[in-house]
Amino acid sequence: MDVDLVVVGSGFFGLTVAERVAAEHGRKVLVIDRREHIGGNAYSEAEAETGIEVHRYGAHLFHTSNERVWEYANRFTAFTSYVHRVYTTHKGEVFPMPINLGTINQFFRSAHGPDAARALVKELSAELGGKTPENLDEQGVSLIGRPLYEAFIREYTAKQWQTDPRELPASIISRLPVRYTYDNRYFNDTHEGLPVDGYTAWIERMADHPNIEVRLGTDFFDASQPVNKGNVVGNVPVVYTGPVDRYFDNAEGDLSWRTLDFEEEVLPVGDFQGTPVMNYADADVPYTRIHEFRHFHPERDYVKDKTVIMREFSRFAEQGDEPYYPINTATDRERLLAYRELAKGEKDVLFGGRLGTYQYLDMHMAIGSALSMVDNHLAPHLTTGATLAG
Ligand code: FAD
Ligand code: UDP
Repeated sequence: MDVDLVVVGSGFFGLTVAERVAAEHGRKVLVIDRREHIGGNAYSEAEAETGIEVHRYGAHLFHTSNERVWEYANRFTAFTSYVHRVYTTHKGEVFPMPINLGTINQFFRSAHGPDAARALVKELSAELGGKTPENLDEQGVSLIGRPLYEAFIREYTAKQWQTDPRELPASIISRLPVRYTYDNRYFNDTHEGLPVDGYTAWIERMADHPNIEVRLGTDFFDASQPVNKGNVVGNVPVVYTGPVDRYFDNAEGDLSWRTLDFEEEVLPVGDFQGTPVMNYADADVPYTRIHEFRHFHPERDYVKDKTVIMREFSRFAEQGDEPYYPINTATDRERLLAYRELAKGEKDVLFGGRLGTYQYLDMHMAIGSALSMVDNHLAPHLTTGATLAG
């Protein structure tokens, strides 16, 4: 095989590694992916009837405070000035999310300023008596008090995780800010935006280098393929971004994931909900949220009489489902440690990305950790012949 590196998986992690090794180190890289398109879960395409860009694996919003990642991303795409804002429907009424002064005042039919709202929430969360929250339920009550927690978090979280919030780690909602201002931006990061001509154009530019060859429809574990685990490992260095348990034939047991089902519909109206994402907080609505893709790109000249919406449903993944969010139970964490040990012993194979490390990574985190893998492991190997170790 006439290449210096095989990358398994063409998501942001795999393509960042491939692009750096090809462009910075002048080496030949073969990228394989079992899907028929590149880009992993960030892949998007124009919906056939309307031309509206649809994110095939769920809505993807780019945001980062990492200057290196922002500079790197801007080499391949410009970003729009899109700022993500989310609303939620509770008992037939629409509120701004994440919870901010607007949400609090609307919910309590009040006109509190920041200090009064803080005092109110403090009083409402007093039931915990200063105890450190030990699960998501307690964390929710401690952050915003029981009434707001029960209205906006408890049932949404139960729908999303199909698990009693008392059994879930507090950390799940620690990324959801609570603000005592009217700022209803969803993310706190310095940089935010959507790729001007879409995710796929960005991703294709990363792969467009004479030292990079991409082969789609190629499963690393399919021994009938010309490039597969059997004939690559031990001969050519590998960066593997598929599921870590699958690499080791699930020898230490399966790692559990949550998957999503998407129900897409083209509607004969110019605007269905007036905003990109509407959450549904209550248990009687089976989906967690509806995305309306035209609103991600208000600057585009989309058709005026049709729109594309996508309802999102969440459930535990079974065999054959797309793994989306690591569940991370205590058993999962034990198994992950065992897989990490196995990975360390795998000569010339590095494990990376969301599936390869069993970690929820935003796009900027996947890109950032791929850049670090190149700096810390691949560059020394390529320049001085240092051993590759996971
Ligand atoms: P992936 O994109 O999953 O790529 C892995 C690739 O490996 C896939 O293409 C897969 O086909 C391939 N592969 C797997 N096994 C094999 C095999 N055996 N042989 C060959 N190829 C294989 N991030 C944000 O920053 N903002 C968001 O708003 C956001 N929204 C998200 C919404 C959802 C529903 C999900 C699931 C993720 C979201 N993310 C978001 C995270 C984002 O998708 C990831 O950060 C990014 O996809 C990580 O890239 P990756 O390369 O690690 O993995
Ligand atoms: N969450 C909630 N209500 C909402 C939005 C989020 O309870 O309206 C909670 C829920 O537990 C979810 C977590 O906050 O799992 C993180 O939400 P986020 O929107 O960041 O999750 P993602 O977009 O990754 O699904």
